[in-house]
Amino acid sequence: MELLQMYESLGLSKAVYEYGEQVLASLTERFAQVDRVAEYNQAKVIRAMQENRVDATCFAATTGYGYDDVGRERLEKVYASAFGTEAALVRPQITCGTHALAVALGANLLPGDELLSPVGAPYDTLEEVIGIRASKCSLKEYGVSYRQAELLPDGSFDYDAIRAAINGQTKLITIQRSKGYATRPSYSVRQIGELIAFCKRIKPDVICMVDNCYGEFVETMEPSNVGADMIVGSLIKNPGGGLAPIGGYICGRADLIERCAYRLSAPGLGQEVGANLGLLPGLYQGFFLAPTVVSGALKGAIFAANVYEKLGFKVVPDGSEPRHDIIQAVQLGSAERMLAFCRGIQAAAPVDSYVTPVPWAMPGYDSEVVMAAGAFVQGSSIELSADGPIREPYAVYFQGGLTWYHAKLGILMSLQKLLEAGLVTLS
Ligand SMILES: *Cc1c(COP(=O)(O)O)cnc(C)c1O
Repeated sequence: MELLQMYESLGLSKAVYEYGEQVLASLTERFAQVDRVAEYNQAKVIRAMQENRVDATCFAATTGYGYDDVGRERLEKVYASAFGTEAALVRPQITCGTHALAVALGANLLPGDELLSPVGAPYDTLEEVIGIRASKCSLKEYGVSYRQAELLPDGSFDYDAIRAAINGQTKLITIQRSKGYATRPSYSVRQIGELIAFCKRIKPDVICMVDNCYGEFVETMEPSNVGADMIVGSLIKNPGGGLAPIGGYICGRADLIERCAYRLSAPGLGQEVGANLGLLPGLYQGFFLAPTVVSGALKGAIFAANVYEKLGFKVVPDGSEPRHDIIQAVQLGSAERMLAFCRGIQAAAPVDSYVTPVPWAMPGYDSEVVMAAGAFVQGSSIELSADGPIREPYAVYFQGGLTWYHAKLGILMSLQKLLEAGLVTLS
């Protein structure tokens, strides 16, 4: 068979290929569901582009101050339309997701205000933004206090603790949709809507912000459709569709976004400046492709969960759970297995396929970390990648894949490498 021969030429064995096909046979209905969400979101993005009359003038490069940048302004309107918000700030000058979150928080919290996380500890990099870990220019240094309500043991919201944590100073509530690299569950848009409604019943004027990283286009709705005042994310994850080379977005209420723009550039300048430097074609086209790209990444995550679950490993989420983000954790139970898994992901990459991932010490981590990534955009995690700290429970976090076929090849290669090293047996 031609396809098998092609795979064999890439180093995949017949046994692994057939094992994969066997797992895939049980996933037809899951994949059909993923396709239906993608189809809906594709229509949503096209409608947003049509409503805002996107045309060739939007793709022109600007330099310098970037006054009257039609393409930039219209891209922001497209994001606002697609996500159902009054306004949006979508910029290559927002360097990453952490930066976007820092802008949204710094712009809307003043000295004396308190920030609340009702979903336990926030993403690692936010610890320094908030000042949980002492850091120069943190919110804490500027007189913004922080509180967090821990989750219940099963990972659900502790409504009593949240009620007790909301007080006269509580100005902004930050809700992280994806579990990131934590062990708690990721939340559905519906669950986030319920949490926001609860918080607003206690304090109607509190600002609810959602860290939407890794969640965009996984469902047909976004947190902004269920009451979030701001949603925030990175363009080198889901909404950039793999084509955005840099950037972040903040979408939400016009008064809040206006403040974000002043924080990002300067008071008085706000959204009026910020040249696009010729990056807009990738930002538009990436957003257009994002629903399909996310669907490929989701299929990869579901496939990985089912392959490794069948081999007896614990996977989070499990093989049959609904998905709320594109991250798949696989607990491999040993450092050797983590390294073999990552060698497989690397070997399947279109870029840097010849390098061997090795663990190394990373700032902010207390153990060595191994990473596999062969991406067109450096650090892009909508592209196929895997990483994890070398410590108990020896879990790799697997995400992305610009196409389903690449994600599939990466997962099969990971299994191939485990098999060749004698670290698993096909059951
Ligand atoms: C990726 C991510 C961020 C921001 O990360 P950057 O690497 O700065 O883009 C924040 N929160 C979550 C949940 C994330 O997944």
